[in-house]
Amino acid sequence: MTVAILGGGQLGRMLALAAHRLAIPCRALDPIADSCVRDVAPLVVGAYDDADALRELTRGATVATYEFENVPVRALEALASVRVPIAPPPRALQVAQDRLLEKRFFAEIGLDVPDYRSIDSAAELRAAASALGLPLILKARRLGYDGRGQRRIETAVDLDAACAALDRSPAPSIVERLISFDREVSVIGVRARDGQIVIYPPVWNTHDAGILIRSVTPAPSLARALIARADHLMRAALESLDYVGVLTLELFECAGRLLGNEMACRVHNSGHWTIDASSCSQFENHIRAILGLPLGAADVRHPAVMLNILGSAPDLVPLLAIPGAHVHLYGKSPAPRRKLGHVTICAPTPVEAEFAVARVQSLLAPIAPRP
Ligand code: ATP
Ligand code: MG
Repeated sequence: MTVAILGGGQLGRMLALAAHRLAIPCRALDPIADSCVRDVAPLVVGAYDDADALRELTRGATVATYEFENVPVRALEALASVRVPIAPPPRALQVAQDRLLEKRFFAEIGLDVPDYRSIDSAAELRAAASALGLPLILKARRLGYDGRGQRRIETAVDLDAACAALDRSPAPSIVERLISFDREVSVIGVRARDGQIVIYPPVWNTHDAGILIRSVTPAPSLARALIARADHLMRAALESLDYVGVLTLELFECAGRLLGNEMACRVHNSGHWTIDASSCSQFENHIRAILGLPLGAADVRHPAVMLNILGSAPDLVPLLAIPGAHVHLYGKSPAPRRKLGHVTICAPTPVEAEFAVARVQSLLAPIAPRP
């Protein structure tokens, strides 16, 4: 058994590490030669749609998967032509890559979303703004991540600026109501080839200008009804896509309801805690699912808080001295706001976890403002 991974970032690295424990070799493809997967698995350097690179990637592979949501769907089609099964299914990726298709898919599974309009021009944006009112958030339909390709429209001046930008470079977009949610939660589920499903409990996520900084599990005082609802939505999404692998739903908790934000057809930053605080990590469960192996339990063995290490690496010595702090570094070179690693703090109780979190936080560099 060999797994081919499109994408060589930290998610690929952690997938390869999980596979390694089961003596399952991985090979990865990334256009960037110093992609951080390189330390733990052979890396093919090339474009995602380069036929030679794809052939090299999938040589002897049992299955191909992806850890990068902007892999061109045509690359997956090219892969199908070299006859390697692909999981998760390319249709799921197609939906997740386009915010409009994604919102329509959410409607299909009964998940409400903030009011939105699909727009292609400044005139349509103005019409949408009069219909929806301000504040709004404008998002490119395709190729966004970590808050890129988005702008908030809070005032008439912002609206003029957004219209001018659209006039200069028109892009199919959606504009949606900027809602004041109570908090953000995500739910991560896994579906195996035989239809077995396991779902991790919802996690509470905090972002800084579009980038995840912290995840808390289990999400404190989340109503039972919402936990059941998240579970139901995940099951519906997995089944309707005939999904195989790990799927993430990013949700807003808003006045006792869950609204859909987006989905990711891959292992997710808000699931990194599973390495240290669950019986089976999201990475291992993804590998198991795509290879047709039985899934592991998606439980929470103890409360955990995951903090991303962004921008610059902390001093290891004091960090490692904090009981319950599990440090993961990805071997990436520093850059403002770049995800360089994460720390998962595990403790017998949430209160004890928060105590250690404060110590860890004091050792992490402040996050640079978004340029
Ligand atoms: P990522 O890849 O990190 O998930 P992204 O670029 O795909 O980010 P979104 O998840 O759509 O973008 O948005 C990033 C963040 O912006 C959200 O996590 C949320 O904090 C905020 N946000 C997005 N849409 C809305 C909205 N309609 N109302 C309020 N806040 C929003
Ligand atoms: Mg998001």
